[in-house]
Amino acid sequence: MRNAAARSAPKVGIVSLGCAKALVDSERILTRLSAEGYEITGSFEGADVVIVNTCGFLDSARAESLEAIGEAMARNGRVVVTGCMGIDESSIRDAHPNVLAVTGPHQYEAVVNAVHEAVPPAHDPFLDLVPPEGLHLTPRHYAFLKISEGCNNKCSFCIIPALRGKLNSRPAADVLGEAERLVAAGVKELLVISQDTSAYGLDLKYATSDWHGRPVAARFLDLAAALGELGAWVRLHYVYPYPHVDAVIPLMEEGKILPYLDIPFQHAHPDVLRAMRRPADQEKVLERIEGWRKVCPDLAIRSTFIVGFPGETEEQFEYLLDWVEEAQIDRAGAFKYEDVAGAASNALPDQVDADEKQDRWERLMEAQMEISRRRLAAKIGRIVEVIVDEVDDEGAVGRTKWDAPEVDGCIFVGGDGATDLQPGDIVRARIDEADETDLWGTLVAKCAWRHSVKDSIWSMTSAIRHNMGRNHN
Ligand code: SF4
Repeated sequence: MRNAAARSAPKVGIVSLGCAKALVDSERILTRLSAEGYEITGSFEGADVVIVNTCGFLDSARAESLEAIGEAMARNGRVVVTGCMGIDESSIRDAHPNVLAVTGPHQYEAVVNAVHEAVPPAHDPFLDLVPPEGLHLTPRHYAFLKISEGCNNKCSFCIIPALRGKLNSRPAADVLGEAERLVAAGVKELLVISQDTSAYGLDLKYATSDWHGRPVAARFLDLAAALGELGAWVRLHYVYPYPHVDAVIPLMEEGKILPYLDIPFQHAHPDVLRAMRRPADQEKVLERIEGWRKVCPDLAIRSTFIVGFPGETEEQFEYLLDWVEEAQIDRAGAFKYEDVAGAASNALPDQVDADEKQDRWERLMEAQMEISRRRLAAKIGRIVEVIVDEVDDEGAVGRTKWDAPEVDGCIFVGGDGATDLQPGDIVRARIDEADETDLWGTLVAKCAWRHSVKDSIWSMTSAIRHNMGRNHN
């Protein structure tokens, strides 16, 4: 009977586009549907219904979302649309009138209801194999941990607050409980995300919640410290340079959380930042960075920048180039400004010519690559911890504490025993070579602890398409 029920389990496919926050939404939807007995499939053709989780941040992302919906319609025909672009149902229905339902971002209930309508659940409690940590679209050894939704800022180029609402933080005990379940399931690296990580808890007035009999405040520092007790790597993304960020730097130096900050500066010139309406006092940021590096010399800073923002002059752009050099930004992504339907910046005068934007983008990336090349070369000879992401017959590919998955560089590890490693192993390697992006090293020692192999749910997720364009904050 159980086998018969398994064979009849309805199948759901998912296409997850956009940022890491959207990816976490997809994971929550899949977790819920799996708990109800749905089978998750990586193929359009075998699915009874396909969910497309869209991104609506940029016009190019909207075009990609419409294309993905079109592909799902052509190859399957039973499609539920959700995510940021879902708030613009008419554009979706103009292009694809026959989608089954359209729901907005983090409307989990509505998506699940639409799936129920398309194909009812066949829940069998004997077959309920959903792990307590939920389902994840990332490899088994790292996971995104979303600590809040929404944003209270009003950056002029951004429509995220309109799409996702005001800051809505999760209680600290909630976040810590999820983190603990992930670590118990074998996750070695927690990637803390939100729209504005350093604003965490402001909406809750930093209320405490009970975690293992002790109160933990919903505050950036308290949460970072508690996460640092779990024995996993903890990496902070989307942090703004507010003064209270200074307090987490000692945790990095003590090895409790990773010496890594992902700060989407977007620009450096005060006038451009004002036009962008960026949060936090950016004027003293160079001094702050210098102070952070005095406390934690190993700190790596990743950032994103927008070039060609309306009104950006050559002089302001050159100011940015000098600033990036002075700040010694380890890793950076750059975007050429584009209008987004509904964004306040669309109305700004003096749009920068497309060729000029391209030229500035190339100059910024070239300057950053040179900084990255020098900073990576200075690490040659050091012995560092590496988390292994992949292994092939030549050795292992992993990352140091200075590199986040998918957006930063990697380290290729060779030497005796390197081909015997497994994804999720944390090892020590000596850095032998570097270029402007990646490192090459030799295995020195394996750590004793290794992931236990969990259920096979992870293998299917690798077939699920997702797009990690998570640099827009
Ligand atoms: S860019 Fe980031 S901080 Fe600014 S409004 Fe958008 S989500 Fe908020």
